[in-house]
Amino acid sequence: MHLPLVDAQARRISYLRLSLTDRCNYRCTYCMPEAGVPLSPKAEVLTLEELARVVKVLRQVGVRAVRLTGGEPTVRHGLVDLVANLAELDLDDLAMTTNGHTLADLAPALHRAGLRRLNVSIDTLDPVRFRAITRWGDLGRVINGVEAAKAVGFRNTKINVVALAGFNDAELPEIASWAWEHDATPRFIEWMPMSDGELFAPGAFLPAAIVRERLVQAFGPLRPDQPSDLPGVGPARYYRTRSGERVGIISAVTEPFCETCNRVRLSATGQLHTCLARDESIDLRTPLRSGASDDQLLQSIRAGVQAKATGHEFQPSGCGGPRQHMVAIGG
Ligand code: SAM
Ligand code: SF4
Repeated sequence: MHLPLVDAQARRISYLRLSLTDRCNYRCTYCMPEAGVPLSPKAEVLTLEELARVVKVLRQVGVRAVRLTGGEPTVRHGLVDLVANLAELDLDDLAMTTNGHTLADLAPALHRAGLRRLNVSIDTLDPVRFRAITRWGDLGRVINGVEAAKAVGFRNTKINVVALAGFNDAELPEIASWAWEHDATPRFIEWMPMSDGELFAPGAFLPAAIVRERLVQAFGPLRPDQPSDLPGVGPARYYRTRSGERVGIISAVTEPFCETCNRVRLSATGQLHTCLARDESIDLRTPLRSGASDDQLLQSIRAGVQAKATGHEFQPSGCGGPRQHMVAIGG
């Protein structure tokens, strides 16, 4: 039995965000430059076996929840096989965050393979503005995806919404109501200044306090709710409306939750990021490809986790984030 994975602040790591690819079929303006980002050469991207091996190793030291992400995880070949493989690991939670573009087609196979929860990103319910924010997106397809997922048995779906002043701030209550009508929980996310602030527009930053205000105006008082379906897994703070509907707010910038951070991220190229807001990472690809044993991999992982940053320095002005793009790390 291995000792749990704990950092220098005594934070226990129990959650892995696993990026399957740095490619994406959308180009959301807050996540990626229009021209895209330099893509990692295929040879540098971890194989499905390598991804699964890292999960197995982390599972031995107490990682109980895994979220598949990207780029866009559904563009990764072999996704369903990987899900089937990970579903055998007896995790408490195996979930995926997706833009939903191909979800209508994939939902049945993903559910059969053992994926149980989905987060789908929808920033507006206006098809024209949806196209504008995603550049390449198709709202109709995404809505079909949410409905197909529900029909095949996905429960507790979350709708991720990046809250942006002058874009969707007036629409937040409508998006929340839409999510509830679809048996989903809306989660409003503060815009994080990734990409060295290059994509960030401080005037469009919408603090969590204003998001809450908009929701209170529309639905009445909000009372704090349980942290998550699995306590401690996610970064959102949850609230209930007077009529019992649930809503989450992810306030990474103005109300950071670093003190209770329980996660690490593995990029598609095998770099372990212990903090989304920092560029430093631990290279696991080299040891993975040079015959390292599980114990040797764990040694590298433990050393990286020991050095996990105490907190981030994201600023609403756009400073304080990493040089890397969100699409490369996976959110
Ligand atoms: N492609 C998938 C998707 O869009 O759901 C998964 C990857 S995406 C990077 C994960 C989440 O990060 C999405 O909900 C997206 O809206 C969010 N996101 C991307 N860039 C962001 C930023 N700069 N600040 C806050 N959230 C961001
Ligand atoms: Fe792609 Fe997701 Fe980034 Fe949008 S948020 S560009 S869908 S990775």
